[in-house]
Amino acid sequence: MTYDADILIAGGGLNGPALALALANAGLTVTVVDARPGLVRAEAGFDGRAYALAIASRRLLQGIGIWPAVGDKAQPIHQIKASDGLAGQGPAPFFLTFDAAEIEEGPMGFLLEDRHLYAAFLAAMGAHPKITLLSEQTVTGQAVDASGVTITLGSGQTLRGRLLVGCDGRGSQTATRAGIKRVGWGYGQTALVTAIRHEKPHNGIAHQFFMPEGPLAILPLAGGHHSSIVWSETEANAKAIQALDDAEYLAALRPRFGDFLGEIALAGDRFTYPLSLSLAETFIAPRVALVGDAAHGVHPIAGQGLNLGLRDVAALAQVVVEAARRGEDIGSAVTLDAYQRWRRFDATALALGMDTVNRLFSNDNPVLRLGRDLGLGLVNRIPALRRTFIRQAAGLNGDLPRLLAGKPI
Ligand SMILES: Cc1cc2nc3c(=O)[nH]c(=O)nc-3n(C[C@H](O)[C@H](O)[C@H](O)COP(=O)(O)OP(=O)(O)OC[C@H]3O[C@@H](n4cnc5c(N)ncnc54)[C@H](O)[C@@H]3O)c2cc1C
Repeated sequence: MTYDADILIAGGGLNGPALALALANAGLTVTVVDARPGLVRAEAGFDGRAYALAIASRRLLQGIGIWPAVGDKAQPIHQIKASDGLAGQGPAPFFLTFDAAEIEEGPMGFLLEDRHLYAAFLAAMGAHPKITLLSEQTVTGQAVDASGVTITLGSGQTLRGRLLVGCDGRGSQTATRAGIKRVGWGYGQTALVTAIRHEKPHNGIAHQFFMPEGPLAILPLAGGHHSSIVWSETEANAKAIQALDDAEYLAALRPRFGDFLGEIALAGDRFTYPLSLSLAETFIAPRVALVGDAAHGVHPIAGQGLNLGLRDVAALAQVVVEAARRGEDIGSAVTLDAYQRWRRFDATALALGMDTVNRLFSNDNPVLRLGRDLGLGLVNRIPALRRTFIRQAAGLNGDLPRLLAGKPI
């Protein structure tokens, strides 16, 4: 039986490339198929879209050889401040502060712009002898048999591998074709995402203001005077705000943002993302595994989406590489069960946790307001509890796969 690659990956967003590199570095051959023309995104200028990467995710990027290309462009997060807020009144006095000095590992995480991360992935995949990247190609079919899986591309080409991994995002057709159902719901919220230039330096502090309509995250970017904002509003508000011209948009943002960073100005393109929860009922099917948003699309309230995906990447790469080293079938039910056992509970629990936090904070009910202020005030006063939360945000809790622990597979 001949195979075009050991592993076929549908989707070359962020988790797809990370998985491809983790597997290829261990000697396996990988073909990544992505619908988008990769180069367009890689050559994008500053647009303000960025990811908050936990310490554990940084370790994975180091382990797969990406960090040296992006490390100097990443902004360390030294503090996270969360506060209740009301438009027009600015943020309430900070009631919860997480400080990197409370853990030994250093900064809790890093803000990295999409344009740098994606370009580094593309360059690394292009240079890797074990990876074939097929851009502007769509996977349209898949068929599984006892010894492998065959996928069909929109061009009519077929490819055969031992395992197919769906990294094709929340609308994963890989999952649908494998008969995997999804559960989920919309939040009636849309995230407005852009970059802001501000007069005063951010000093590496990330802010989260909980507004009744949804959270506003202000995330420090490299250089000191730019931040990326993820501003969640009700769908109707977001539609109206996005339709405003730049000056009006800024006027709508100012009362929510406050003046703690001095004068602010728009500094990037303006994007919108409708927010929803989308969970696959199972992360595996015969010779198929789901990774990243294809398995779990979560609310961006704590910036955990990509971090969760990279945990899947590290776990799946480890079980597959270990199976290959033992001479076992890397697409067998035993291998895939090990992946599902490792990841499904953690990912589902976190997705539902983000859901609860969003429900608790995205409203103006005075009883809930009091409850959450008291609850977070309590966390703020108990160092041991605060440390647990910091370690959770940094991705250091739980049974970590080797790449997330900073070790080779
Ligand atoms: C507003 C917002 C802010 C966020 N902020 C953060 C943050 O601070 N930190 C964080 O960790 N996460 C954050 N996230 C989450 C993060 O963006 C996602 O979790 C992550 O991008 C998912 O990556 P992915 O590779 O799984 O999927 P995607 O990025 O959705 O990639 C899927 C890829 O599959 C391809 N594809 C789809 N179908 C096919 C097909 N049939 N054939 C071939 N290719 C196909 C698509 O072209 C695409 O390239 C945020 C999300 C939002 C909406």
